[in-house]
Amino acid sequence: MKEQAESAYRPGYEGNHMKAYIYDADKASLVAWLKQEQQPAYRADQILAWLNQGVQNPAEMTNLPKTLKIALANAYDTQGLTLLQRQDSAEDGTSKYIFQLTDGNIVESVFMIYKTGTSVCVSSQAGCQMGCRFCASTKAGFGRNLTAGEMLAQLALIGRDKACRIDKLVVMGIGEPFENYDQLISFLNQAKATDRLGIGARHMTVSTCGLVPQMLQFAEDAPQVTLAVSLHAPNDRLRRQLMPVAQRWSIDELLGACRSYLENSNRRLTFEYALFKGVNDGAEQALELARRISGLRCHVNLIPANPVPGTGLYPSTPDRIRAFQDILTQHHIPCTVRRELGRDITAACGQLRRRLEEHEQSH
Ligand code: SAH
Repeated sequence: MKEQAESAYRPGYEGNHMKAYIYDADKASLVAWLKQEQQPAYRADQILAWLNQGVQNPAEMTNLPKTLKIALANAYDTQGLTLLQRQDSAEDGTSKYIFQLTDGNIVESVFMIYKTGTSVCVSSQAGCQMGCRFCASTKAGFGRNLTAGEMLAQLALIGRDKACRIDKLVVMGIGEPFENYDQLISFLNQAKATDRLGIGARHMTVSTCGLVPQMLQFAEDAPQVTLAVSLHAPNDRLRRQLMPVAQRWSIDELLGACRSYLENSNRRLTFEYALFKGVNDGAEQALELARRISGLRCHVNLIPANPVPGTGLYPSTPDRIRAFQDILTQHHIPCTVRRELGRDITAACGQLRRRLEEHEQSH
């Protein structure tokens, strides 16, 4: 039996002999594999062109010879992402995609249309371990890290389904991207490469709950990518009530890492601040936040909270959100309220995955 190319095994799966997902193959590894199959190197470009178009099944790669299609399907996992469900918003063109991974894990991605172009919100992990009190992704438990290919395929498959170019990506789906740092960076590089998806780094945003060492590293590795930091509270006491990660790093340490990023980057940093009624949405907190981040090249994105049952946290009322925004604006902190796309399809982070898993558990 012919030996399989080493590159054809999946990274990050210890003791697991699952084949590598074809989206995890890069040009060099495909060329090496083709050589072993006694096929010309130019086939790698053809295969990558299909992958970029969202075609993962070799049977559909019509310009490849039959023997190569069979060999590809034998060497690689060519069904790494299977579309389980798509929900379309009747309101604003948003679509939510539920994909099943080869090992049964489930992730979500969201397609959105803005005036400035199309955008996909990508999941970086199946589940999340960060334990934020308000978040549905945490409640549904943790499966595993996604590979770079599994992140890339979310974009490519959605681009194919929507028959359009994806202009922007945000890593704000399920998971903490900085817990899966190496695969994240590899994914961003491939999404950017002009012979892959060609999405400019300036059109990418990565959101973190605030893992300080990785934020410092990110400032070195990806200063062109917008960093979004989930702050959600103006002081450590309150932040610790909402986010366990706040026990590990204080807001001072977090802001220190933000400064490092800003020194290396010419981007503006985004702070995400979800407003929960009577918890972090008062005038006092708005003032404290304004004082704390004044002078930083940043922008605050206020998120009307999504209610997650069982958390004891409830969304702020629109007038409290407006009052909070007004205080930040008066203190010269650029501030917007996130437009809620796809509300009718529970497009917010982790909500649908959780609902599916609850459904499965109850059967
Ligand atoms: N782990 C990353 C990215 C995933 S979540 C992070 O923490 O930033 C994307 C954003 O949605 C984060 O700002 C997160 O805090 C926020 N979020 C999660 N659950 C929410 C909810 N119920 N209401 C409002 N925002 C929520």
